[in-house]
Amino acid sequence: MLKLLYATEDGTLYEDPELEAAGWTGNRVVPLTGKNTIPLPPGADLMLLPGRTPVGWDVKKEKPVKDIKRLEGKDKLYAVGAILPAGHTRTLLPGMRAYSQAGPLPLYGYTAVGAKDGEFYAAALVTDEAYRWNPLLYNDLTLPKRIKRKKKEFPGNRLVEHLAHCSLDYHCLTAQNIFYERWEAGIPVSPGCNAECLGCISLQPSGCCASPQQRIDFVPSQDEIVQLATAHLEHGAEPIISFGQGCEGEPLMQAPLIAAAVKEVRKNTPRGTININTNAGATEGLKQVCEAGLDSIRVSLISAREEVYNSYHRPRDFTLGDVKKSIKLAKEHGVYVSLNLLVIPGLTDREEEAAALESFIDEAGVDMVQLRNLNIDPYYLFQTVPPADGKLIGIPALIDHLRQTGIRIGNYTHEVR
Ligand code: SF4
Repeated sequence: MLKLLYATEDGTLYEDPELEAAGWTGNRVVPLTGKNTIPLPPGADLMLLPGRTPVGWDVKKEKPVKDIKRLEGKDKLYAVGAILPAGHTRTLLPGMRAYSQAGPLPLYGYTAVGAKDGEFYAAALVTDEAYRWNPLLYNDLTLPKRIKRKKKEFPGNRLVEHLAHCSLDYHCLTAQNIFYERWEAGIPVSPGCNAECLGCISLQPSGCCASPQQRIDFVPSQDEIVQLATAHLEHGAEPIISFGQGCEGEPLMQAPLIAAAVKEVRKNTPRGTININTNAGATEGLKQVCEAGLDSIRVSLISAREEVYNSYHRPRDFTLGDVKKSIKLAKEHGVYVSLNLLVIPGLTDREEEAAALESFIDEAGVDMVQLRNLNIDPYYLFQTVPPADGKLIGIPALIDHLRQTGIRIGNYTHEVR
């Protein structure tokens, strides 16, 4: 039995003496047990969910309990959720209900969590090797000195200034890797975008909630890009450079610039992987970048069903069909293709979603599915995307099924060179 957790306004965390912890997917409330949870991984956070009341599970009556009155004098109890580090995929949302008039939650990937003997357990699966994204390997005391050194190495390079800001203010891991000179490092280039995703983390037109980071407000020069990219690929440990970061719009809006930079970088060094994270709507732009020497691409997708895709990504001048065309084109150029599947229990684990995803992967020739816990308030999302009513198969079954198709499953981009 995993105990239900909740918190009071002052942030004090409590374990319920009687009720079991519960998770949520679609119209189902599920008790958390040792079978459908894992120990909370290092680097995870526990969060009080403002405006959300906890939902527990009554073991004896085998049903959910929604109206929990416990602590004398404390009129409000708040639900608690976990935020998982990379390498882990959430399988259930926290058991919660929104207080009336509650505003949308900030953009995080909320996960069901419970407790036993003082230890926390989350409804999640380990789906990739998490070593490189372990928060304990970042934000250390050497970072400011490393930033100073890079600024001295590339005086006046605005990208270095921008990534220093992202590293110190947003604690962005791919920005920091430029300064740690290792693994996947981000090169943002685009202030603009050709879509308006509901959960966009760099610009929130929907007024849903504040975007966690500000979008880059300049287009770097070819030299600024080539300087940083060449240095990282030539000297970095297991290096990857990635266009398309959380602090920018759609990188293919700057396809000619990226193509010219990639060509020049490849003249400088054959080492490492050049990747782009994109919505892949701009097929012509992608063609230029592939011909310039791109190695891998990661395409963001919440659903392979057009109606759901459009309601979330709100593409301005492209369709899901264009996205599929872009993936086929990348494959024709020998580029390794991953989907950045935005995972949310209650939608992704529906039978019709799984079927559409499988045929999309098959038709387009996708190599890998990267599972991304979608950072959004589930209530807000489910009010906006068309209601899904197909059978719930559960996230674990979906992952097993995808694995059986032979496709690679993981959570982030790996080297392909
Ligand atoms: S494609 Fe990326 S930058 Fe553009 S709206 Fe969507 S999440 Fe934001």
